[in-house]
Amino acid sequence: MLSRLTLPFKDQTVETTLILFKPDSLHRGVVGRILSRFEDKGLQIVGMRLMQMTDEIAAEHYAEHVDRPFYAGLVGFMTSSPIIALALHGPNAIGVARKLMGKTFGIDAEAGTIRGDFGCSKSYNLVHGSDSHESAARELGIYFPDGLLKWDGIQAPWLWDSGE
Ligand code: UDP
Ligand code: MG
Repeated sequence: MLSRLTLPFKDQTVETTLILFKPDSLHRGVVGRILSRFEDKGLQIVGMRLMQMTDEIAAEHYAEHVDRPFYAGLVGFMTSSPIIALALHGPNAIGVARKLMGKTFGIDAEAGTIRGDFGCSKSYNLVHGSDSHESAARELGIYFPDGLLKWDGIQAPWLWDSGE
């Protein structure tokens, strides 16, 4: 057991992902409870920012959806009031965060996931999470152009072991 504390974290893909608390999560006062789920899982906060999403930021962030019928409504929703951008760091952080979030629509998302437990709307689904390495790199650049704050978390040796 003692050796576990000194294991190098080999075989772990330590990633950083971009999460957004959408306007509905701030209006409904559930940011703290949702953030706790990411913290409980062991993901480390390396960036956090309360901000207003502009039309320009929305167009950049949601470029892949520009031709979709829900695009205008999505941009209107996301720019309606402040959001919180969050950067989370940890083993497989991109996929782990998406799993915690659940399926896109609250009505479909499994109970136990954030979207499954906190809502039943299609559009107002509380959080955004990067869906790939490429998206994470691109999206983190949008919200944290000055970079992130990397720090040594004291939980890391227990949460990020390689499983060997
Ligand atoms: N969305 C919507 N209607 C739809 C599909 C998506 O309002 O029919 C919104 C919803 O807020 C979703 C966002 O557009 O989170 C981006 O859609 P995507 O398919 O990328 O889902 P996600 O990656 O957020 O699960
Ligand atoms: Mg998406």
